[in-house]
Amino acid sequence: MTPAAALRRIAFLLERAREPTHRVAAFRTAAAVVDALPEGELERRIATRTLTDLRGIGPKTGTAIVQAHAGEVPEYLARLEDAYAELVPLADDVAGFRAALRGDLHTHSDWSDGGSPIREMAEAAIALGHEYMALTDHSPRLTVANGLTAERLERQLDVVAALNEELAPFRLLTGIECDINTDGSLDQTDELLGRLDVVVASVHSDLRAESAAMTERMLAAVENPHTDVLGHCTGRLLIPREQREGRRQRPRPESAFDAEAVFSACVEHGTAVEINSRPERLDPPLRLLSLAVELGCSFAVDTDAHAPGQLDWQSNGCERAVETGVDPDRVVNTWTADELLEWTAS
Ligand SMILES: [Zn+2]
Ligand SMILES: [Zn+2]
Repeated sequence: MTPAAALRRIAFLLERAREPTHRVAAFRTAAAVVDALPEGELERRIATRTLTDLRGIGPKTGTAIVQAHAGEVPEYLARLEDAYAELVPLADDVAGFRAALRGDLHTHSDWSDGGSPIREMAEAAIALGHEYMALTDHSPRLTVANGLTAERLERQLDVVAALNEELAPFRLLTGIECDINTDGSLDQTDELLGRLDVVVASVHSDLRAESAAMTERMLAAVENPHTDVLGHCTGRLLIPREQREGRRQRPRPESAFDAEAVFSACVEHGTAVEINSRPERLDPPLRLLSLAVELGCSFAVDTDAHAPGQLDWQSNGCERAVETGVDPDRVVNTWTADELLEWTAS
């Protein structure tokens, strides 16, 4: 096991054991630091005992790195594996869950802040065995992500229609990841939202708003008849992430909101709760995912991929779904495209 993989495994087990977020994040951050080291630097740091001089690596993570690098299972990891063995889902269950997924409902292309053309994303989805993929580029207000104006979205619909002719029987579904404005309205015209196959609604601004305001805002979006999926509901970022033009986003905690009220509204209004598979998001946290299961929510296991390779991240979400007892029949992207479209149209 590579040092970074060992650190991620530790983070995974700690989170699963409902350890405090900052302890989990420490291991994910350390894994990201190791990943970002230039060639040979890890060896040099270990040899000169200067690992902990790196920002983001402390005594505990440093020891785990040294042991993993020496080809051993880090002591700390071995202890966790032992303690939490009964909590670990069988790999077979996760693989089975992943195999039940027919598509992905949250993806980005280079029309907004993704890195690849629509066709490349679709071809990667086909290679993974997906039957469909919803293209959900950002909405106008998210200017940092090059959100699509109504005019550009109109043009994208034509491009998607042409691609569908070529790629059939694969179905490229039209969609949007629509910002939830601070007043709870959606950041695109009603007319366009009504024409799209899939609407993922997400909060991307004022993430530190107080709980009552955030709850109102999310409730309005969940109740909006156009909304099909509530995207990455807490907005948390577990590890720093690189953005376009060298910008770097720092980790951030979950937004505060009344999860019971929001998830209950999702059940009532037929809005699916997204299980976001991005490694820096893994949203909702297991604690909230369990609550959503208990309340009877439907789910969408999505990658939020911004590049073709990221379409493979769904197993992250499947692992969490298995862990919290999500029934695959309640996951809308296990349904056929026709069943799915019937649901989003209703
Ligand atoms: Zn988003
Ligand atoms: Zn997204």
